Amino acid sequence: MKYISTRGDAPSLSFEEVVLTGLATDGGLYVPETLPKFSADEIASWAGLSYCELAFKIISPFVDGEIPDADLKRLIETSYTTKSGKGFRHEAIAPLIQTGHNEWILELFQGPTLAFKDFALQFLGHLLDYILKKRNQKVVIMGATSGDTGSAAIEGCRDCENVDIFILHPHKRVSDVQRRQMTTVLEDNVFNIALEGNFDDCQNMVKASFADQSFLTEGRQLVAVNSINWARIMAQIVYYFYAGLAVGTPQRKVSFSVPTGNFGDIFAGYLAKQMGLPIDQLVIATNSNDILHRCISANDHSQQDLIHSLSPSMDIMVSSNFERMLFDLHGRDGAKIKALMENFKATGQLVLGDDALAKARELFSSYRLSDEETISVIREVFETTEYLLDPHTAIGVQAARKTRQSNAVPMICLATAHPAKFPEAVQKAGQSEDPKLPHHMQDLFSREERYQVIEKDIAKVQDFIRSNI
Ligand SMILES: *Cc1c(COP(=O)(O)O)cnc(C)c1O
Repeated sequence: MKYISTRGDAPSLSFEEVVLTGLATDGGLYVPETLPKFSADEIASWAGLSYCELAFKIISPFVDGEIPDADLKRLIETSYTTKSGKGFRHEAIAPLIQTGHNEWILELFQGPTLAFKDFALQFLGHLLDYILKKRNQKVVIMGATSGDTGSAAIEGCRDCENVDIFILHPHKRVSDVQRRQMTTVLEDNVFNIALEGNFDDCQNMVKASFADQSFLTEGRQLVAVNSINWARIMAQIVYYFYAGLAVGTPQRKVSFSVPTGNFGDIFAGYLAKQMGLPIDQLVIATNSNDILHRCISANDHSQQDLIHSLSPSMDIMVSSNFERMLFDLHGRDGAKIKALMENFKATGQLVLGDDALAKARELFSSYRLSDEETISVIREVFETTEYLLDPHTAIGVQAARKTRQSNAVPMICLATAHPAKFPEAVQKAGQSEDPKLPHHMQDLFSREERYQVIEKDIAKVQDFIRSNI
């Protein structure tokens, strides 16, 4: 299996190479040259497989023999386990809960950091460790976080011998739970930088460091753990199949509603559909940062100012993975995507042609929720079912209810975070007490923390990295 750039002008890569690469040299994102396709009979034969068994079926065609089957199985089993004490907390790994008529919640927050990003980053951590040991190579992970990505990446990499991980977060601008999930990991390959700036400053420093890596010591390179990394998307395809099988696919169709920010999660759902899962609706659910909802509903993909919402993990101005979707919507024409993206960078506007827009509308429904609506959904669902939604998940649930076309098709709403991560929204919805952290995190607020506060100066950040690797 070869991986190609969405802008058509970078070398194609093998699976292992693509795991170690961030952006392509032409500025594009890597995608598989072709997708594996599964027949309805084959999918039907997977009913009853465990999460790990199913993950192997879905992931192995993408790895395409570069990792021996026995090793790949072991990597999957160590990533999605309840046995290590640091892993998942539910035997099903991704359990389904019913909240309405043929309406289901897929709990993707049973991992160590209580957000769905654990599904991608637990696997990516083990995969990186395996590939690097084989190559006898060491790398540096550098990433910026406004909350969930940083902690999931740190948890995924804390035991990796060949990885040093540096995560920048905006000083005093992430929640206490989110900060402590990162800063209480004390392994000596883990470094938290509290930057005296905002999230954009953090991200700009990471971008500039990837563009010029000369500050690193000889033989080291940076590896990306944001969702431009193909392995993250790949790992997320699995739970669409897992949930679909649980409600009776392929004999019947299934729909999904996905709280969306950078478009990584829902892009994995789109891929599952291309690979043979009979998905009826895919709902893009956004908060007030609604560039994708505007794009689908009004062909308005224009960049607007960032709004801070009660669902901060979806606060984005531009969804980086949407470029992968645009590539498919435009007949996989790299030159066209290059022109579109360069024009978008220059003007802040991107208008889809008639064909691309029609295809996008056929594939996706979309809906946008304000903070007030988000709060009222949390309240209403709790009053009717005693099930407490986090604000991101609440957006997915309401978007599903507003756009649903058929009650006969099961609607699965992806629950992307545990409510205890976002107590502010939950309190605003009328809960008198903060939702309880799960058992393994009860002592989070008494654990020792370690992080470095650094001023907004890229030379100082890079000095810190160089002197610690
Ligand atoms: C990252 C995140 C999202 C958005 O996912 P994308 O793949 O960026 O679209 C939604 N909810 C939560 C809780 C997240 O952490």
